[in-house]
Amino acid sequence: MGHLSGALPVVLDLGGRLVVALGGGPVTGERVRSFLDQGALVRVVSPWVCEEVSELLEAHPDRTTWVRRDWAGPADLDGAWLVHTATGDLEVDAQVRAAADALRVWCVDATDIGASTASLPAATRVTTPDGAVTVAVHAEGDDDRSARVRDSIDLALHTGTLDLRTARRREHGWVALVGGGPGSDGLLTNRGHELLATADVVVVDRLAPRTVVSRLPESVRVIDVGKTPGHHPVPQHRINEILVEEASRGHGVVRLKGGDPYVLGRGGEERLACEAHGIPVEVVPGVTSAVAVPAAAGIPLTHRGVAKAFTVVSGHEQIPALPPGSDHTLVLLMGVSTLRDSARRLVAAGRRADCPVAIIERGFLPDQRVTFGTLADIADTALFRRVESPAVVVVGDVVDLAKG
Ligand code: SAH
Repeated sequence: MGHLSGALPVVLDLGGRLVVALGGGPVTGERVRSFLDQGALVRVVSPWVCEEVSELLEAHPDRTTWVRRDWAGPADLDGAWLVHTATGDLEVDAQVRAAADALRVWCVDATDIGASTASLPAATRVTTPDGAVTVAVHAEGDDDRSARVRDSIDLALHTGTLDLRTARRREHGWVALVGGGPGSDGLLTNRGHELLATADVVVVDRLAPRTVVSRLPESVRVIDVGKTPGHHPVPQHRINEILVEEASRGHGVVRLKGGDPYVLGRGGEERLACEAHGIPVEVVPGVTSAVAVPAAAGIPLTHRGVAKAFTVVSGHEQIPALPPGSDHTLVLLMGVSTLRDSARRLVAAGRRADCPVAIIERGFLPDQRVTFGTLADIADTALFRRVESPAVVVVGDVVDLAKG
């Protein structure tokens, strides 16, 4: 015995079971919180409790009791499935351990793990639509070491480095609409990476980050709806059908989109189509190109003394009535083909013809290019430079900030 060196990790189901915690300090608080998170009933035995323990007792009156006195002997452990002691008095902790031993109840002594019959590992957990995965690290009582290893695993879990896919057959599939940001893997959120590490099928857009997709294991089916052999993108209604079909077959489906799913991305339609078939949908926000691509060119959409607000519109639609001043920034997505018309309308609506304009093509990609002009000349300049989609057009005084 001692140091739990041959330790066998065991997962306890504490739901509805009593844990007795001796002591009322912050260590007890941290542990009691974990026990309560797992659904345990908790009896705290201590003449005083710190703020954290007190808050937990107040928050869970139905699952906690506080015996407001010192340890009074083995009867304090009546009914316990697990004991935790951190009284601050080594003598008392030793008595608690001995009493637990006699009752054959596992006991964690927070100040003397070597003498404990049980210990709590450093743990981390990731939740997925297929359930949670918990990783626990035990380093024979070397807490710093186990915490460090845990932190590395934590990072790997949350950045999608660890494969989280289940081999189990699901009764019901799921769909996650993941915003991939404007094309660079670094701008995909951790939640996006976690779900990509869980999915069986990834339905990917033209503007979604590609490197992350190319690194998926071969077992993951990638459906590219951004381009087909005939170079025609798959129509939206067909994309909706694909999501529904795949999830209905019991697959976990990530729909990886460029930017944010809800910014001119038809994410709302995809979610409604899935929900109409009873398919659960998680929506993961992404970094929208509307804000991020101007930033990639050094253009802040708002700037003290220059612009206080911005409007994002699709160049495919009529530009709505906007404040005409060039201190209101206008961002056009899908605005390349209609640029001449948009510029003309803005001037007709009262914007200055010399209002600065920038067009940022392929933001965050290695061949990003920025073209500057004014409302009066931007359409000709864009034509001359053969500006192409995808590009974000920014109109307003903030554009001058890019030139430094
Ligand atoms: N949901 C997306 C926008 C989809 S509409 C988002 O939140 O970013 C598609 C338009 O987004 C493109 O026509 C272009 O205007 C813009 N766009 C997306 N990625 C871009 C990029 N990397 N560089 C420049 N523009 C981009």
